[in-house]
Amino acid sequence: MNLDKLDKAFSNFIRSEGADDNGMVRCCTCGHPSPWQYMDNGHFIPRGNLGTRYHLKNCHVQCVPCNRNLSGNLKKYKEFLIQKYGPEIIEELEQESRKDVKLYSAPSPSYSLARYSS
Ligand SMILES: [Zn+2]
Repeated sequence: MNLDKLDKAFSNFIRSEGADDNGMVRCCTCGHPSPWQYMDNGHFIPRGNLGTRYHLKNCHVQCVPCNRNLSGNLKKYKEFLIQKYGPEIIEELEQESRKDVKLYSAPSPSYSLARYSS
């Protein structure tokens, strides 16, 4: 499975999903508004953990300074998650991240991508 392709499609989905009519979204940790194309898909638990790499509650729109320069701005990210999903979300994501996930090839390469590409 080509994770780069899946990452790109998933990122497009996360970043564009909440865009307004003008294509604008806000950073989940600092509120900075920007066209979704210039934002990142910010992971609370790092992408290296496959169990939460494509978890919708672990992935939200972030501006580049928060995601890259502040390494995810995790203190604010944690506050955002708790406000959005409740305090149990942190433990839930940590449990999910520890699961032994194996990615396998779908019958058609486009199958997995299709979920996030439309
Ligand atoms: Zn930000």
